[in-house]
Amino acid sequence: ALKKYVLARARPGDVDDAIRVIDHFGRHVSFLINVGDEKGKILDRAVERTQPRLLLELGTYCGYSALRMARVMPREARLYSVEFNTANAEIARRILAHAGVDAKVTVIVGTLGDGGETIRTLKREQNFVPGSLDLVFLDHDKKAYFSDLELIVDAGWLHPGSVVVADNILVPGARAYRAHMRHNDGTLWHTAEHRTHAEYQSVIKDLVLESEYLGTQTSSTGTSRPER
Ligand code: MG
Repeated sequence: ALKKYVLARARPGDVDDAIRVIDHFGRHVSFLINVGDEKGKILDRAVERTQPRLLLELGTYCGYSALRMARVMPREARLYSVEFNTANAEIARRILAHAGVDAKVTVIVGTLGDGGETIRTLKREQNFVPGSLDLVFLDHDKKAYFSDLELIVDAGWLHPGSVVVADNILVPGARAYRAHMRHNDGTLWHTAEHRTHAEYQSVIKDLVLESEYLGTQTSSTGTSRPER
């Protein structure tokens, strides 16, 4: 339904219009679990501040947050978005193409926790090399946030200054992830907790975490760490 709605109502090649039409659908037609307009602005600002060249999203859903990131990321940047559900991935690809950002965004069907297949695909086919990943957006299976973060760190893709943004920390909730970020604040990560609301309403509270990677203790980069 969303795909038909966007293709019928959003101007082709206009990313702003695609975002507007999806927000309208989410508020007035049928609830969507994408990040939404209020929390989407937090994501926009993280991308604008970071000026990433390589971005990874976990949980494409219908492509809404990918549209938002593609709109504000630098012209030469590339976003790889991983989606578990094949049907969702197809909808997202169609919407991204309609909005004219399909050359900047690649949707990959899979999950980082699939035993290595998706990670190998990113390494071999998409040039994910150590220290290359500037921004990550986590918005998939809430129970997988922490384990998938560990896979990303273990792959060595992050560098000091890489930023990880995570949605839905309160609703539905990602307790282990939040606890990890709190426990390692000032050592491995520096985290800002953005107080906000769950998507497409203004009553239920939610948190978006924005965490800057500081590098490991044994890192030889010489990057200084902020005082607590
Ligand atoms: Mg979400």
